[in-house]
Amino acid sequence: MARIGLLIVLSGPSGAGKGTVCQALLAKHPELVLSVSKTTRQPRAGEEDGVNYFFVTKKQFGDAVAQQDFLEYAYVYDQYYGTPRSIVEEMLAAGRNVILEIDPQGAQKVMKTYKDGIFIFLLPPSGAELRTRIITRGTEDDASIKKRLASAAREVTQASHYNYVVINDQVDAARDRIHAIITAETLRVSRNQNIIQDIAEEVKG
Ligand code: 5GP
Repeated sequence: MARIGLLIVLSGPSGAGKGTVCQALLAKHPELVLSVSKTTRQPRAGEEDGVNYFFVTKKQFGDAVAQQDFLEYAYVYDQYYGTPRSIVEEMLAAGRNVILEIDPQGAQKVMKTYKDGIFIFLLPPSGAELRTRIITRGTEDDASIKKRLASAAREVTQASHYNYVVINDQVDAARDRIHAIITAETLRVSRNQNIIQDIAEEVKG
């Protein structure tokens, strides 16, 4: 029987480096699939439609909600973000391991529907480091930075709902820790019952 892929959810406060760590993970492990979300926010410099996000209007987002096209969606920093359901389901069915880089509200919804999901929370090495990263990121105005600092403080406390915490002190180290989690989860007895049975049958001859 074909193995169903793992659904891996990665969250973390703004400035924890989720995007960078995800890119490093995909560069080294191209067999992983990163789900591309839809959002109503404007693209930042260098972001590409269909690569970083599918950038959509509020109307398009609302239509997708009405058609139940999202696995989950949430309102984050005054914008809507959602995970397109069909791509994720197809990839999982094809045995691919899929990563969702989503906020804790979205993750809580996925926790209810995907009990087998793997929930990883990325943290910066310290609160001071996180403040610096958010403030010096330079892509936001002052009001947005204030909002992101307040949200980041709230979001850090959400880590306790996840299965794993990964500290992003160095991108390569964080990448390898996440990959180690994925490897270990793949090897769980509960995910390998078929193999155990097949070998037991074969050995009987
Ligand atoms: P940003 O605007 O910085 O790209 O993302 C803002 C926040 O939205 C981040 O915490 C990011 O993880 C989250 N986010 C991105 N895509 C989704 C999604 O599809 N669903 C949810 N719930 N959050 C998302």
